[in-house]
Amino acid sequence: MIAWLVAATVIVCSGWLITPLSPQLIGRSVRRISTQEKVVALTFDDGPSADWTPKLLALLARHEVPATFFLVGSRVAKHPALAQRIWQSGHQVGNHSWSHTILVGKSVVSVREEIEKTDALLHELGYMHEIYFRAPYGCKGIVLSSLLRSLHKIHALFDVITWDWDNPGVAQITGGACKAVRPGSIILLHDGGGDRSQTLQATEEIILHLKNQGYRFVTVAQLLAYDSANRT
Ligand SMILES: [Zn+2]
Repeated sequence: MIAWLVAATVIVCSGWLITPLSPQLIGRSVRRISTQEKVVALTFDDGPSADWTPKLLALLARHEVPATFFLVGSRVAKHPALAQRIWQSGHQVGNHSWSHTILVGKSVVSVREEIEKTDALLHELGYMHEIYFRAPYGCKGIVLSSLLRSLHKIHALFDVITWDWDNPGVAQITGGACKAVRPGSIILLHDGGGDRSQTLQATEEIILHLKNQGYRFVTVAQLLAYDSANRT
């Protein structure tokens, strides 16, 4: 019991262990899959956004690229038809919490509500596929990880961070993604949360560059099928 408490305290207090690129010690998570195949998943967080999601959907359709959108429940409630358009366009959607709050240090009840309320709305709107989760800011703690395990949910994180939310410039977003990508990578981008004009332009350049390198784009669910069992 004491050993468990010590371990729990260390984990809760360790800033590193709650960050997106640290290992998740409980439950099933994925940041990248292990494969030799040149497959990669584009993921877009924080939508749906009335300003940017339709433009992104048009761009993805133009290039025939499927993607995965991690939706914020409260934003889905504001734009239900737009949320439906995402999956009706052939993309995967995931749960990015209800209110996009950091879920570390929160009670089990409130974290569970953040997850289940968003799932319930997506189901109500007709999304019938398995719903993966992605924590806001990628921050995970024991409560969240344990809950995801008990709900049999995959925590879909990422290994390629572009810092697009900071609008660092199209060249930096594109260059950062193309330099860091490897077979089986999951790239983090955003279609909500602010002005996403740079992300939009960079997404087109990332698609063109990676296609030229021989990469194929798949959803996160499709990516998992390529996993040779060792998740990293
Ligand atoms: Zn987010």
